[in-house]
Amino acid sequence: MSEKFDVIVVGAGPSGNAAAYKLASAGLSVLQIERGESPGSKNVQGAILYSDALEKLIPDFRDDAPLERHVIEQRMWVLDDDSYIGSHYRSEVFNQQPYNRYTMIRSQFDKWFSERVQKAGALLICETTVDQLLLDGNRVIGVLTDRQGGEIYADAVILADGVNSLLAKKAGFHPELHPKDVALAVKEIHFMPQELIEQRFNVTGDEGVVIEMVGKITQGMMGTGFLYTNRESITIGVGCMLSDFKQQQITPYALLEQMKAHPSIKPLLQGGEMKEYTAHLIPEGGFNAVPDLYGDGWMIVGDAGMFVNAVHREGSNLAMTTGMHAADTLIELKAEGREFSAANLKRYKTRLDESFVMKDLKKYKNMPDVFHTNPQFFNDYPELLSKAARTMLTVDGVDKKTKEREIRSSFRKRRSLFGMLGDTFKLWRAFE
Ligand SMILES: Cc1cc2nc3c(=O)[nH]c(=O)nc-3n(C[C@H](O)[C@H](O)[C@H](O)COP(=O)(O)OP(=O)(O)OC[C@H]3O[C@@H](n4cnc5c(N)ncnc54)[C@H](O)[C@@H]3O)c2cc1C
Repeated sequence: MSEKFDVIVVGAGPSGNAAAYKLASAGLSVLQIERGESPGSKNVQGAILYSDALEKLIPDFRDDAPLERHVIEQRMWVLDDDSYIGSHYRSEVFNQQPYNRYTMIRSQFDKWFSERVQKAGALLICETTVDQLLLDGNRVIGVLTDRQGGEIYADAVILADGVNSLLAKKAGFHPELHPKDVALAVKEIHFMPQELIEQRFNVTGDEGVVIEMVGKITQGMMGTGFLYTNRESITIGVGCMLSDFKQQQITPYALLEQMKAHPSIKPLLQGGEMKEYTAHLIPEGGFNAVPDLYGDGWMIVGDAGMFVNAVHREGSNLAMTTGMHAADTLIELKAEGREFSAANLKRYKTRLDESFVMKDLKKYKNMPDVFHTNPQFFNDYPELLSKAARTMLTVDGVDKKTKEREIRSSFRKRRSLFGMLGDTFKLWRAFE
């Protein structure tokens, strides 16, 4: 093969699909290369789809996209070993169309998305791995695939190859991933009858619930747990920073097993049949870990560019948004008859800086460092909060003023007044 395209997109996840869809819809010749046997076959399943980004790209996506449930209730749990303190937000507004958030199964969703991309005119080849970028000096001029005679040329290559982004590393565009910048997440899908899910989570029809969890379930490591209701299954998982797993010498599998055995979580899984177990990295280094995003003839989108908002568990929407901005930049330059040089592709970065993507990552730029170095937020505070609630809720003849004193003293003993002031400041810095 020695054909030439306007653009080659490496990867058929949300970022690659969004870029390829836009480019093909605008009439550019697009080749998309995916190493999986079909789009989505390599992707971890069960996730939340935030519909805003997709709606901008494919306004009628609700007509035929494989969606599971629309989320009407978000729970946030802080757990110690045997309790949780939680807040639940449920709103009828989330029950009015058009819905804003859905649970979905990634393998089905990616396949559907890819069909739309191909209908828009992009050429997709699967079961093909891009081994390296073809360079002419500093300029990317195409890719080398693992197929025989696998050189393919293009005016621009979009790297939508996910968190590992080996291609960018090989070409020297991307530094090695640092274990403190990536989380390792494991998740399982437990199948159970639809009626059981509806009774257990107090929903009907296509309504769904999400539970986000922090606290002792991650054993002091920086991370979170999550549970999503799909139509006939529940996705449950936990993710922590890779560097923490290394340090604590605990396996992700053992962590998930312990989380599932928690007395508040176990009953939610009862009667289910576990059918899938998957593990995947998530780039959670945030703003400070974003690599160079463009150069002569190349651009990076999605997870490959560290575009994940770990605080709000948003990834696929950032992936699609960055894919769209990369495509828009190329479409604009092509219309102006300009080449895809680094100087011109700078517009991609400008677009990102003006979008919610960079603004949100910037807002939480201190968050990874703060939580990484302060395990008390995952251990001490959940325990203290739970103990305080238990003390106040136990009716035992002790007067309430004495109970309040007891609670204040337990906080002071564990963290000291100075420590708590410091922790408040750190929290403010993390979320400022
Ligand atoms: C456990 C877990 C839970 C998550 N939950 C959510 C959630 O609820 N909501 C949310 O919005 N986000 C979630 N995310 C994040 C979200 O999945 C990612 O942000 C998103 O998938 C990134 O899309 P992408 O297209 O950039 O990369 P990917 O989806 O990783 O796609 C990259 C594609 O490139 C292909 N590829 C890689 N290298 C090559 C190569 N050399 N040649 C050819 N093809 C290649 C891969 O096979 C893959 O299909 C979650 C992630 C994980 C791991």
